[in-house]
Amino acid sequence: MKYPKKLAKRADEILAARRWDAERRQAHTLALLHEQHPEVEAARRSLASLYAKRGTAAIFEPDTLEGIDAQISAGREQLQALMAAAGITEADLEPSYTCPACMDRGMANGQTCTCRQTILNQLVYEQLCDVSPARECSFDNFSLAYYDREQRTVMGRVVESCLRYVREFNRESKNLLFTGPPGLGKTHLSLAVAEGVVRSGRLVMYVSAPHLMDELERGKFQKDAAALEYREMIFGCDLLVIDDLGTEMVTSYTRSEVYDLVNTRLNTSRPTIINTNLDLRDIEKKYTSRVYSRIAGTYAVVEFKGRDIRLQKREKG
Ligand SMILES: [Zn+2]
Repeated sequence: MKYPKKLAKRADEILAARRWDAERRQAHTLALLHEQHPEVEAARRSLASLYAKRGTAAIFEPDTLEGIDAQISAGREQLQALMAAAGITEADLEPSYTCPACMDRGMANGQTCTCRQTILNQLVYEQLCDVSPARECSFDNFSLAYYDREQRTVMGRVVESCLRYVREFNRESKNLLFTGPPGLGKTHLSLAVAEGVVRSGRLVMYVSAPHLMDELERGKFQKDAAALEYREMIFGCDLLVIDDLGTEMVTSYTRSEVYDLVNTRLNTSRPTIINTNLDLRDIEKKYTSRVYSRIAGTYAVVEFKGRDIRLQKREKG
């Protein structure tokens, strides 16, 4: 899984801060120990110097090792007895890392530790929240009460299949086209899916179509590092949610970009969810039959019907 450099750097900063904090607290504990139990501190120091002596002896005077080992084991016993008398445990002397498995380094046994992965997931989610109302859009607060009786049953099934989509998400997951007039829950439901997929450790991007076109244009023509990285993420993230397709200014440039994006993600098995007020016919008219045939042939279409939920909420007061 490739994470954007900015997020990876932030994850490393968080780990470094945790590590620094754990070690600072340990230094503080040791200083207190030194003050309150100088006998324990002295025993620790003499044990440490015995270990150092052993290291040198192992190379230059191997025949003295036996004697040093005996001193070490006596020193250890003495230290344990002094610590027990002072009510200090081994754990009190160690830094209390947030993640003992990697000692807050983010790597354990040559692999990325799960704690670093957890931090990255959280950062991806926060990034999603920065650009969308993701925090307000969960499955829990997706209400079926705003749909009429017939549509409620249909939407109930849609929600069920979205929950399944999240549970089973992988590179073979379907592409989804949420279509229908505004205010019927397309953004809400796609963000609930996005959040669920983020929580399973994937890189999810959410972007409105007008913003997407601006960014792609910037990446293509200006070629600054941030724009190129953004472009790479949009093309390569595990799940991409494009909101409001059709509200951007459509030019021959955007047409070819939409085709390139849709086609590349299909060819590299990267699922995409598109929200749009357009139906498939409109998509064909607006983006040419090339785009239409890629979407119509490979996206599962979910139709949203009913009365504008925002309007209904406003009427209710
Ligand atoms: Zn860890």
